[in-house]
Amino acid sequence: MDKVLLIICDGLADRPISPLGDKTPLEAAIKPNLDKLVKRGMTGLMHTVDIGVRPGSDVAHLSIFGYDTESYYTGRGPFEALGYGFDLKAGDVALRGNFATVDTNLVILDRRAGRINETQALVDILDKTEIDGVEILLKKGTGHRVAVILRGANLDDKITDCDPHIEKMPIQDAKSKLNEKNAKKTADIVNKFVRQSYEMLKKHPINLKREQDNLQPANIILLRGAGKLPSIPNFNDKYKLKAACIAGAGLYRGIAKILGMEIINVPGATGQIDSDLAAKIETALAWTAKYNFIFVHIKGADILAEDGNYMGKKQFIEKIDQALASVVGRNDILLVVTADHTTSSQLRMHTADPVPVLIAGTNLHTDAVESFGERAAASGKLGQIKGKHLMPMILDFLGKAPLYGA
Ligand code: ZN
Repeated sequence: MDKVLLIICDGLADRPISPLGDKTPLEAAIKPNLDKLVKRGMTGLMHTVDIGVRPGSDVAHLSIFGYDTESYYTGRGPFEALGYGFDLKAGDVALRGNFATVDTNLVILDRRAGRINETQALVDILDKTEIDGVEILLKKGTGHRVAVILRGANLDDKITDCDPHIEKMPIQDAKSKLNEKNAKKTADIVNKFVRQSYEMLKKHPINLKREQDNLQPANIILLRGAGKLPSIPNFNDKYKLKAACIAGAGLYRGIAKILGMEIINVPGATGQIDSDLAAKIETALAWTAKYNFIFVHIKGADILAEDGNYMGKKQFIEKIDQALASVVGRNDILLVVTADHTTSSQLRMHTADPVPVLIAGTNLHTDAVESFGERAAASGKLGQIKGKHLMPMILDFLGKAPLYGA
């Protein structure tokens, strides 16, 4: 056993839901393959960032990969921008954007514009905009997402978000966090761009057609998560592994790219609920011939929970389980299945509840847990760990952990 398959199911964990018989979607799901793996392995609960911390997906992944987020996290923008294929340069400020729906007073009606997907033409009319001598570049992301970078002299990423993160609120002006000149200038350009996006998008034929069809128009871009390219130690050097990533969604590809993982493209891996999960797992297994650490990211459960669709989340988990059928008999691989955070379907947001983690391999300990779930994992052998403990444990299970002391 010298290879690792780490599957991070975004927002997999949840809280008990009355219509599911007070079970979580994971507990309620029919998941014979995950349950077989649990019987072959160990379980526990993981606080991906820290106890009581409600993590964003970006910091949660960095923590799971063993990177101190205080030292290395510079905002979500750069990860997303790299994931969507930007060649980020030093000095660029990258932001994450959402196509959203606002009314004429710029009050947010839908932060995701009805989860619009057909945004390429909208991206194209705003790409390469110039404001106050700064070039603004856009790339389409998955669904309603878009990556935006500001390229020019004297830009600063210490600015607040335009996106208030809740609906029925007006968009906010980005502001300098430290009342500093370059950050003020950057915030000013961001605010001008957001307003310009509204002026240009509200009359676009795609949006006029959407309104006719009773769909939310994508009439503004909300920006958040400003950051510059972080300098992060290479994952392969840090752990003496050869790592690759399979992910449809841009953020996770971007994180993997910054860490120096190879990105493997899988047709049908969309980062959405329609993603071809079986193809992702099959491809991951095939590429274990070349890489000894493969990170597979699966997004759908989080999307469904954010939309309050706990039944859809349960069904999606069943789809994950089916995709894992080919992993069950693989004794040459250390399999780790976990989540980056809990996403509560009822609160429709991330919560700080720890997530279940499953580790199965050959000649490793097992525990008495028989099913993969939030409550069952609480009695598992791994106990309660933090995200930063996972990689050292993985290395140890492989027999590759450095000796501490003599
Ligand atoms: Zn997440």
